[in-house]
Amino acid sequence: MIERVLPMDRYGRLLRDVMFPAWERLRGRPLELDRYLAETEWQSPEQLEAIQAGLLRRLVRHAYTHTPYYKRVMDAAGIGPEDIRSAADIAKLPMLDREVARATAQERTSDAPPFATVKKATGGSTGQPMELAYNDESQNWRVAIKNRGYRWAGYQMGVRSLHYWGMGAVAPKSVLHKWKADFDHFAKRELYVDCTPRGDDALAGVVTAIRDFRPEVILTYAQAGAALARYVTRMGARDWGTIPVIVGAERLWPHDREAMSAAFGPEIFETYGCREVMLIGSECAAHDGLHTSVENLIVELVVREPGGAVRIARPGEVGEVAVTDLHNLANPFIRYLLGDLATQREPARCSCGRWHPRIGPIEGRVTETMRDGNGNPVSGLVFNILFVPLAPFARQFQAVQHLDGSITLRVVLMEPGPIPPALTAHKDSFCAKYLPGVKVTIQAVDDIPPTKAGKRQVVVVERPPT
Ligand SMILES: [Zn+2]
Repeated sequence: MIERVLPMDRYGRLLRDVMFPAWERLRGRPLELDRYLAETEWQSPEQLEAIQAGLLRRLVRHAYTHTPYYKRVMDAAGIGPEDIRSAADIAKLPMLDREVARATAQERTSDAPPFATVKKATGGSTGQPMELAYNDESQNWRVAIKNRGYRWAGYQMGVRSLHYWGMGAVAPKSVLHKWKADFDHFAKRELYVDCTPRGDDALAGVVTAIRDFRPEVILTYAQAGAALARYVTRMGARDWGTIPVIVGAERLWPHDREAMSAAFGPEIFETYGCREVMLIGSECAAHDGLHTSVENLIVELVVREPGGAVRIARPGEVGEVAVTDLHNLANPFIRYLLGDLATQREPARCSCGRWHPRIGPIEGRVTETMRDGNGNPVSGLVFNILFVPLAPFARQFQAVQHLDGSITLRVVLMEPGPIPPALTAHKDSFCAKYLPGVKVTIQAVDDIPPTKAGKRQVVVVERPPT
């Protein structure tokens, strides 16, 4: 397997080798971590497990000694820090549900250094914001892990990159901040384009930006990148070769990956992360699952058995994603259930040569699970089956299941006018097969507005207010 290494001009090398390291040192971020991760990415399963075991022992000892929460739950379970020797011993520790994590933020705060230096709240996509806190070391690991994941996709300092995502999520605080950010982006060869407006005019503007700026890599939200890709193909606008695309922030549906491949070439790299721990997994050039961030996190996929027992998902099985943040000693997160689903894979060496365990596909939020007429769960994923034949008729879709169980299929039609009969026929045969007993209505809309952070939700399940 040959990894993509982009040829770099003099300015690119100056940025990468001189200016960027100087800037990072000024900010106090140790570049040794980048070098360390460049070595460990090739290590054996035994070496990787040893790294995790050591970090886990330190984390659990610290959490038990310095936080009331972990002292309490571990005493209640009859286990002490000495019972945790290997990474697999993590199964002895209780899971941490989102609700409990939210309620225990204070009780999980360590009374000894290192104290939290970064504090922020998670977004409101679930409608329940949570406070996050972590120490410098954890922050540095997050950045280094992200740098490595993006490097696998050909992105590094000095490479011309187009960032096509929601500006709401990164809006500068003041004019001065904006100037500074603009200068930063200019110097680093980053072009930021807001992905929130998605009309043809806006998409034409992005195509012009691609032609003028000639990005060597594109970073985008999944839905935004797919909308852009469909526009490019529809208008026959592609006059470029392969541009690698790093996709994040939203679930990457197979039909969206196909659309992006048609517009930008086959190098589409899915990444999976969250605000709580940042990058959880990233795709390598083999495009065969996402390698988990072993040196920063323990990533588990778990299945809850009837009766409450929890077991690790078997290869091929879908499980709930649980993460343990190995470097956050200030506010430990151990076996934290994120509310996402992903498919377990056989532990095996990837054809890229790395042993970092892989997961995927990422199936999306648990809250995307719908119910059929008998109350049985149906993954929102099935809409993929419907969306492929609908693609010629509609630019965007969104399926919303209401509290009474009925579903509204919102579509932005390719041509304004009545709903094409073929679209209704596809919908009817799909629903009879996959959502028996559910009333599904098609509603033509002008636009499907994104969330505040500029994300598009393909499947929405309405919940009663809590
Ligand atoms: Zn790989």
